[in-house]
Amino acid sequence: MSTEKRLMRVAEMLLSGAIEVVDLSAPLGPQTPILTLPPELAVDTPKIEIHTISEYDKNGPFWAWNWLKLGEHSGTHFDAPHHWITGKDFADGYTDTIPVKNFVAPANVIDCSAEATANADFLLTADGVKTWEAKHGPIGRGEWVLMRTDWDRRNGSVEAFLNTDASGPHSPGPTVDCIEYILSREAIGWGTQCIGTDAGAASGMNPPFPAHNLMHKANRYGLASLCNLDRLPPKGVILIAAPLKIVRGTGSPVRALALVPRS
Ligand code: MN
Repeated sequence: MSTEKRLMRVAEMLLSGAIEVVDLSAPLGPQTPILTLPPELAVDTPKIEIHTISEYDKNGPFWAWNWLKLGEHSGTHFDAPHHWITGKDFADGYTDTIPVKNFVAPANVIDCSAEATANADFLLTADGVKTWEAKHGPIGRGEWVLMRTDWDRRNGSVEAFLNTDASGPHSPGPTVDCIEYILSREAIGWGTQCIGTDAGAASGMNPPFPAHNLMHKANRYGLASLCNLDRLPPKGVILIAAPLKIVRGTGSPVRALALVPRS
C-alpha cells in the first residue's frame, strides 16, 4: 500500500471510530491548579484569568471573544528544554524552534495507579520500567513514556492536586535512575498526571528534579497534568501534543490527544 493510501486509511479509521481520539487535557480556566513555589522565590505563576472583551454587546454587537492571562506552565502543558538551566543552550529547545515532527510520537503508558493510590509519594524506578517492558515490550526510540497515576481524579481540588503538607508536596513521580533509563532507551519525553513532571519529593534527589534536569539536558520534553491515561492501552497509541508557537517560549498549555485503536 502506498504511503498516501495508508494515510487515507488512517483518515477512514478516524471517521469510523476504529481509531478513537482521546482527550488527555484538563479544562483550562480560573479553577486550574497552579504550582506555588516556596515564599523565598517570591514570584508565582498567576492564576488563570479569562476576561471578556465582548459577548454580543456594546463592545462587540455581533461577536464574542476573550483575552487571557496565563503562565506557560499552566494546566495540561508541555515543558520545552529551555525551561531548565541544563537545557538552556539548545537552539531548537524553545516552543517556536522544536521540530514539529517531535509533537507526534508513540506513547508507552506505565500504570502506577494502584501504587500511587496506596502511596502518594510513590516513585517509579528504572527497575519498575524494566518490569513493565518485560511484560509489554521495549520502549522504542523517539517514544513518550507516560506515568499513569490517575492523579487527574484530584484535578477538581487545588488542595488535593497539590497535596502539600508541612513536610512539603506529596505526589508520585520518577527516580533519577528511571529518567536515566528512559533516556538510554532514547525516549523523546516523559509525561505525568501531576502538577509537574517531577515527584513531590524531587527537590531532595540528586540531581534535584531529575525529570527536568536530565530530560531537558538531553533536549527532550515533558508533559504535566495529563488526564485520562486510564483510557489508554500500555502500548500502541500515538500522542499528539503541540505547544503554542510562543516566541522563545519555555512551555505552553497543550490540547494533548491520543490516537487509540478500538477493535
Ligand atoms: Mn512545566
